[in-house]
Amino acid sequence: MLFSHPEFDHHEHLSFFCDAETGLKAIVAIHNTSRGPALGGCRMFPYASDEEALRDVLRLSRGMTYKSALANLDLGGGKSVIIGDPRKHKTQALLEAMGKHLESLGGHYIAAEDSGTSVPDLKVMGRHTRHVAGVAYRTGFDGTPSNGDPSPVTAYGTFVGLRAAVKHRLGSDDLTGLKVAIQGIGNVGFRLAQHLKDAGAELWVNDIHTDNMQRAVDQLGAHAASAEDILTLPVDVIAPCAMGAVLNDRSIPAIRAGIVAGAANNLLDRPEHDAALKQRGILYAPDFAINAGGIIDVFYERTGASPDKVRAHVETIGDTLTEIFNRSDRTGLPTGAIANELAEERFTKHAAGAGLAPQRLSRTG
Ligand code: NAD
Repeated sequence: MLFSHPEFDHHEHLSFFCDAETGLKAIVAIHNTSRGPALGGCRMFPYASDEEALRDVLRLSRGMTYKSALANLDLGGGKSVIIGDPRKHKTQALLEAMGKHLESLGGHYIAAEDSGTSVPDLKVMGRHTRHVAGVAYRTGFDGTPSNGDPSPVTAYGTFVGLRAAVKHRLGSDDLTGLKVAIQGIGNVGFRLAQHLKDAGAELWVNDIHTDNMQRAVDQLGAHAASAEDILTLPVDVIAPCAMGAVLNDRSIPAIRAGIVAGAANNLLDRPEHDAALKQRGILYAPDFAINAGGIIDVFYERTGASPDKVRAHVETIGDTLTEIFNRSDRTGLPTGAIANELAEERFTKHAAGAGLAPQRLSRTG
């Protein structure tokens, strides 16, 4: 059943696409368009069942509504999933069929890259639709050329958010001598480390790929740490930038840092870990607030704004987090709950604004 599905949350529109010729089986979920067209990644994954794919697309599209609203973007939340193994089933013909499907949605959903798809894949879809994002070569937020990869701007937004958390907790945003442990020195983690190094912080790093870790040691003077220790070192901040669910029953009691501020999605293993962090006195920068740099960048790619405007908007991540931290202090509620509340205010208020809600698609499925 769909409307009684545990992950169904008043999604506006769902479409199921099947193309026998290319083997395309895809679902697009548009959760909420009260702030604008639904934008979110197109994920390709060998789901074990249709149910698993449906669950993922319902959950992830809702998350995009919250992320874009919290970032004050005129975007709604959506996501798409292609059922299949990207290494075996991804063909030009399948991607083109997906592009035709996206076009049929008339711009109510805009696809971006996600796990299992790449910028070149989105460009293939783009042969049949304008409704793909994160694919343009342009001048990035920092004045350097950008190929659509959102990692540099996500890293900068995470740095800005981490600094806001330090200011809130320690009373100063001077990061000189601040001790930070970063889990995952990939596209985002390495660039975050560079910003922190430039600001005078002392770094500890861990990555399952030792060459990534070694690069941070060699180029940034970071200390290598073990996988077991990285989240429990006696540092000021831990920045998980690898994978989700690392804030869990096992890690939270052992964390010694006063701040958690990292870019990885879905950091909380279960919703109640939000309160568990607060109870331990750990200031948690909610993941979907701090890692919004990429979506901000993609939004401005579509509107053609100047790099300065993108940068200024990314810097509002710090203001949003400060508002979350202050409200959490006032109410005693954990920061993740406050972030959800603030996002809901932002997309509900927008919907109530005169003439702001775009025409909605009729609900199917
Ligand atoms: P990436 O794949 O480039 O980097 C992830 C790094 O983490 C890799 O170097 C990998 O080897 C390492 N890693 C994986 N598992 C690990 C483990 N158990 N312990 C230590 N290291 C491990 O990915 P990325 O683009 O840097 O993204 C990092 C995180 O941020 C992801 O969770 C992603 O969903 C999230 N995020 C990224 C963006 C973006 O713009 N790239 C935007 C929002 C959120």
